[in-house]
Amino acid sequence: MMIVMKPTATEDQVQAVIDRIESCGARAHPSRGEEVTVIGAIGDREHVARLGLEGHEGVAQVVPILKPFKLSSAQLRPGDRTVVEIDGRKIGGESFSLIAGPCTVESRDQVMTAAPAVAASLFRGGAYKPRSSPYSFQGLGQEGLRLLAEAKAETGLPIVTELMDARDLEPVVEVADVIQLGARNMQNYALLSEVGRAGLPVLLKRGLSATLEELLMAAEYILKEGNPNVLLCERGIRTFETAYRFTLDLTAVPVLKELSHLPVIVDPSHAAGRRTLVEPLSLAAAAAGADGIIVEVHPEPDEAICDGPQQLRADGFAEYAEKVERAAAIAGKVLSNEPA
Ligand code: PEP
Ligand code: MN
Repeated sequence: MMIVMKPTATEDQVQAVIDRIESCGARAHPSRGEEVTVIGAIGDREHVARLGLEGHEGVAQVVPILKPFKLSSAQLRPGDRTVVEIDGRKIGGESFSLIAGPCTVESRDQVMTAAPAVAASLFRGGAYKPRSSPYSFQGLGQEGLRLLAEAKAETGLPIVTELMDARDLEPVVEVADVIQLGARNMQNYALLSEVGRAGLPVLLKRGLSATLEELLMAAEYILKEGNPNVLLCERGIRTFETAYRFTLDLTAVPVLKELSHLPVIVDPSHAAGRRTLVEPLSLAAAAAGADGIIVEVHPEPDEAICDGPQQLRADGFAEYAEKVERAAAIAGKVLSNEPA
């Protein structure tokens, strides 16, 4: 249920409603907008309905939240979008973010060449890699995290890196500014809850065959633990088309923004599977109003251990970033490369 307070409601009246909601074991999530305060009551609908909140002082109306996702729902925060702030860099709102870096951390040389070359909003790189084959390179693990920390110390770029196993949470949290949850783990509910409790912003990738509702329900697991900083990421889905790796579902961008207040990031690299498609898909995503792009960039893609064919060449990144910046401007967004 959603309790919409009157514009004249006092802080005491808001608090009284929160206390009443919590008295029946439900959770109250107040959202204080410019005009009105809206309180989400998340819990057993019957119990909440029996509280008679309509009659409370300061309450304008009680409206059911019709979608199964609640905390991620745009309905809960009318006219108010989540902006995630990382080291002074904003993701969401008016800002457009470029998250760039190699698929996987391979060596000190590779990371320390890539990080200054991309000069993006954030730096990405996997230390733990979800590989289709157990015989493929699985990532450098803790040594990879150490190299990412070194890259951050050198460039100041915040780090986005994937967590695959809750047992690695502690070392990942020490280095990461944003924890990436990969497409294959989107419905690993135990991991989602664990990461929700860790408190760091989370980049949550859409599963290979997940609907947008399933993506939002996965986000709900993180939000429910009290972590409001979730970035939704469209990275291509499985369709009947075989001419490229996955089908980048750009309709997801405006639809997710309609359904949810959370920022929406697009990953053109994993959808495309090959370099020549990455730029056009990036331009389309930026112009469609995405809040950012996460893209793979490598100093020497031909030597890359993993995902070489899709990684952009680091020496062409500045030119690429300029074009993406212009496409984002069409959607009224400004590239945020520097801390505000
Ligand atoms: C990645 O970003 O490195 C990755 C493996 O992506 P996805 O989970 O989308 O396949
Ligand atoms: Mn990759």
